[in-house]
Amino acid sequence: MLSEKMYQLGSRSSIIREIFEYGRKRKAEIGVENVYDFSLGNPNVPAPEAVKKAMIALLEEESPTALHSYTSAPGNPEVRCTIAESINRRFDMKLEGKNIYMTTGAAASISICFKALANEGDEFITFAPFFPEYTCFVEAAGGKLIVVPANIEDFQINFDEFDQLINEKTKAIIVNSPNNPSGAVYSEATIQKLVARLEEKSAEYGHPIFLISDEPYREIVYDDIFVPYLPKYYNNTFVCYSYSKSLSLPGDRIGYIVVPDEMIEFPKVFAAIAGSARALSYVCAPSFFQKVVAKCVEETADISIYENNRNVLYNALKEIGYECVKPEGAFYLFPRSLEPDAYAFCEKAKKYDLLLVPGDDFGCPGHIRISYCVKPEQIERSLPAFKKLFDEYQ
Ligand code: PLP
Repeated sequence: MLSEKMYQLGSRSSIIREIFEYGRKRKAEIGVENVYDFSLGNPNVPAPEAVKKAMIALLEEESPTALHSYTSAPGNPEVRCTIAESINRRFDMKLEGKNIYMTTGAAASISICFKALANEGDEFITFAPFFPEYTCFVEAAGGKLIVVPANIEDFQINFDEFDQLINEKTKAIIVNSPNNPSGAVYSEATIQKLVARLEEKSAEYGHPIFLISDEPYREIVYDDIFVPYLPKYYNNTFVCYSYSKSLSLPGDRIGYIVVPDEMIEFPKVFAAIAGSARALSYVCAPSFFQKVVAKCVEETADISIYENNRNVLYNALKEIGYECVKPEGAFYLFPRSLEPDAYAFCEKAKKYDLLLVPGDDFGCPGHIRISYCVKPEQIERSLPAFKKLFDEYQ
């Protein structure tokens, strides 16, 4: 009667959601301040004041019909131009409005790309640790997700393993930097190495291998680290961007896809993006918030709060004795679990009301994800619990 695949997908919640729901109940029992919930990647830093100002100005300046009507399928033309100009200023690109497709966030953007590209049997490669939703997005598009095991030394790309997995069926590579869950930012050297492989393999197989850059955390980086803008390195790149994290607007669902002119057969590829968005009914992203973000293209939420959280938590965990690669961006720490079974470790952590997420679903067993987009007080209060948990293993 039903699609068994969709039933399975809908009836099993993700481990992150399960832990979050457990946390909700536990907070009702013992008080919010006594549960150290590091499960969800929901920004806790408020949207910048500019967002509120933009909303008020739009409500006052524009007629309700103009503000709330459908936009063109790929988005409001002026908004697309404003975003293109901002990208050009920041990354020295030459985009126009026609290179931008407005969406309801990064998840929609990457789903649209997968569906625009996938034919039966096509493979999409990603690098562990990776955002677990890629699996269902790629499968829904009819493709197969291939995961390159993690390089747990620094969470850059594991090229030896990648070389074993790329093949004629590879349609695209999806990268996420700054990364959820490791916080790693791919260096320029990593990107250059990846691009050289893609050029070489595209020529060898006689078809392009596309690059999809999933970058909702682009602005959330620390210590002035450089985040390469991938279309500058590789023509066949889609950039999937979102304002969910940079402007702390995850509930308002706005993002976009960049399809540069240099993309092979640009008109055909852009038409496939439009067709995919249509098939998924992701056309006409919400009109009001398209206009809001256009007024805030160069704003970000206060990143210094995340940076401070990272410093406090990373330094404290290292001092206690946890092993962890220092994250350079996003708002996650990804330390090693203190036993090989990260699920068992996260169960033990619950004894101290520490809610952590096992790395297995991110394709990286033996690690745990700590989402530190929380109030700084929660981090301070949680440190004794991390210490007690560590001591239990000594
Ligand atoms: N990609 C990654 C790596 C993410 O971490 C997230 C959200 O947490 C998304 C995509 C989805 O972003 P959005 O809320 O803009 O759809």
